[in-house]
Amino acid sequence: MIAATQSNHPLAASTQPSPAVSPLVEARARIRQAGMRITRPRIAIIESLLRHAGPISIERIHQDLGPTMCDLVTVYRCLAAFESLDMVRRSYLHNGTCLYELTLGSTRHYHIVCKSCGNTERVDYFSVEGMEGIVKERGYIHVSHIVEFFGICPACQQARQARGTSVTVPAEKRI
Ligand SMILES: [Zn+2]
Repeated sequence: MIAATQSNHPLAASTQPSPAVSPLVEARARIRQAGMRITRPRIAIIESLLRHAGPISIERIHQDLGPTMCDLVTVYRCLAAFESLDMVRRSYLHNGTCLYELTLGSTRHYHIVCKSCGNTERVDYFSVEGMEGIVKERGYIHVSHIVEFFGICPACQQARQARGTSVTVPAEKRI
């Protein structure tokens, strides 16, 4: 899965510029401001997102919480609520798997996903306001967007060259 190059260590995010307020404190404040209760599952989900330095699936978050914390539907609902509070960002693997990552305390960015091994890397943010403007001119409000890049990473290319096989993507993995 995509966690292969990512550290699960809680201090892994310390290489990024540290925000003035910790993401967990900021998350609690936003939940309260929205008139929502601070529940154990909600905090556990945020802690799970904090432990993973990149986007993870809902199932993985649910696994992190353990079997007794809450059911999968609750995780879905919490993440949908967090998204409406602009605390998490949704992204997708090329097979359609939905992933979430915390936006609190991290700069805005996109991902490039390896179609072979699933590793993700960050790509610097660039503005697509022009595109959003076109959509708004058509009369849409609350406009948002998702940008993902897909390719074959250098490590996978090397591994395949070493094996003497050409760099192809399995048919079911093609977009
Ligand atoms: Zn790869």
